[in-house]
Parts: sequence; structure tokens; C-alpha cells
Amino acid sequence: MLNFRNTNIAFALLLMALMVFDIIFSVPFYVYLLLVISYLSFLFYGSYFVHSQFYMKTICKADINEKKIAVSFDDGPLEQHTPQILHILKTYNIKAAFFCIGKNAAANRELLRQVHHQGHTIGSHSYTHGYGFDLLSSKNMHKDLEQMHQLVKEALGIEMKWFRPPYGVTTPNLKKAVEAMNYTAIGWNVRSMDTIAKNETTLLQKLHRSLKPGSIFLFHDTAAITVSILPRFIEQVQQAGYEIVPLEKLINLQSYAD
Ligand SMILES: [Zn+2]
Repeated sequence: MLNFRNTNIAFALLLMALMVFDIIFSVPFYVYLLLVISYLSFLFYGSYFVHSQFYMKTICKADINEKKIAVSFDDGPLEQHTPQILHILKTYNIKAAFFCIGKNAAANRELLRQVHHQGHTIGSHSYTHGYGFDLLSSKNMHKDLEQMHQLVKEALGIEMKWFRPPYGVTTPNLKKAVEAMNYTAIGWNVRSMDTIAKNETTLLQKLHRSLKPGSIFLFHDTAAITVSILPRFIEQVQQAGYEIVPLEKLINLQSYAD
């Protein structure tokens, strides 16, 4: 299985073999360089692709055959679009998972409560969600996650169990911090790319093509295009015979501690 541990073992063995070979045949420098580049490429792949399971176990879909999917919204809650998303979900009687950013939740506590009271699941998406988050030490990542955890605990009286890595990036330090929080990492297998999508029709077509049993769709309740396409997305999913179920039901996992 391709993961961090196995990659390190394979790299160390190859490096040793190369050094032995070097004594007998004299290996050119570029061969070493090639080995290091391929090693770093593996690490990059593992960090960047949340479904790779390279550094840590991340749930990205459910292995089911029934036509069921779940939808999730990252990066809110913000006044700009979250209330509209909530309104649409209520209209269609759909429960979603909201992976909230702590600083946004702190600035919009009432909205956070509204998301919770409407029956959606609240998961952690870190407190700061800064560009430098993935470069933090595991101790500082833990501190960040703890800050978010306490905020939600105080505001809603719940203890979250789910965490979605900011930008979907995973690292050995994040693995440690997530384990220290006793969180389950939740990813996705359909990334809508709604934050950069320009054309509604193209986006809807792409989402339609990605429709498969057990899929977890990633949206952002910070993107205007998501508000525009959400009703049509829900309708096209239902017309294809699919049901949008709460993420807990799809993956059969509890989202809060007892
Ligand atoms: Zn995010």
C-alpha cells in the first residue's frame, strides 16, 4: 500500500542499494537526484490528494451500491451566502455537513447556531485556515484545533468528532494533531471547485458526471455560484434517482461525542 511509512522504507532501501552499487560501478550524480525527486513527488502527492490516505486515514466516500450521496459545505459560516444555502437546504428538506472555520464561526455565532438548529452537522475545519496552517508544528496545529473545538462547545454545547483538513492537505504533523483531538478526518471524492468555477452549466454538468453511489460532494458556503446552482444540483441528483442523506448516515459514523 502506498503510504508515508512504506515510501520511506522503499526510499531508504533504494538509496542503500544505490550506494552499494556506487562502490562497484560508480553511479552518476543524476541517478541520486532522480531518486530524491521521485521521493519528493510521492510526498507531494500524499499531501495534496486528500483521498490518497498517504499520511492519515481520511474518509472520502462510502462503499455502498444504493443511490445515496451526501453534501458538505466548507469555510463558513459567513453572512454573505450561508443564510441563502440554509434556506435552499430547508426548502428541499436536506441535511448537510458544514465544516466551519473557527474565526468565521466566532464572528457569526448566531449563524453557527442556525446551522446547528436546522439539523445540519458541524465539523471542524480549523480555527484559522491560514495559508501557513500546513507548515505549523503539530503542537500549534493542536492548539488551533483545540481553539475551534472549545468555541463550538461553548456556543452549541457539542463536542465535534469530525475534522476536514484545510485545502485537503495532510501532513505527518496534522496526523498527530488530529489524533490528539481524537478526530476522524473527513475528505470528499467530488471536489466541485465552486470557488473558481465561472460557468453554472459547466459546473452542473461536471457534478452530474461525478454522481456515484456513496459520494461525498465538497462545496463552499462562501461561493456565490454555489447558491445559484444548488437548487438545480439537488433537482438533477433527485431526477437521477439519488437521495441526498446526512453524512452520518452515508458513512455510518457519529459526528459528535456523547
Ligand atoms: Zn477550506
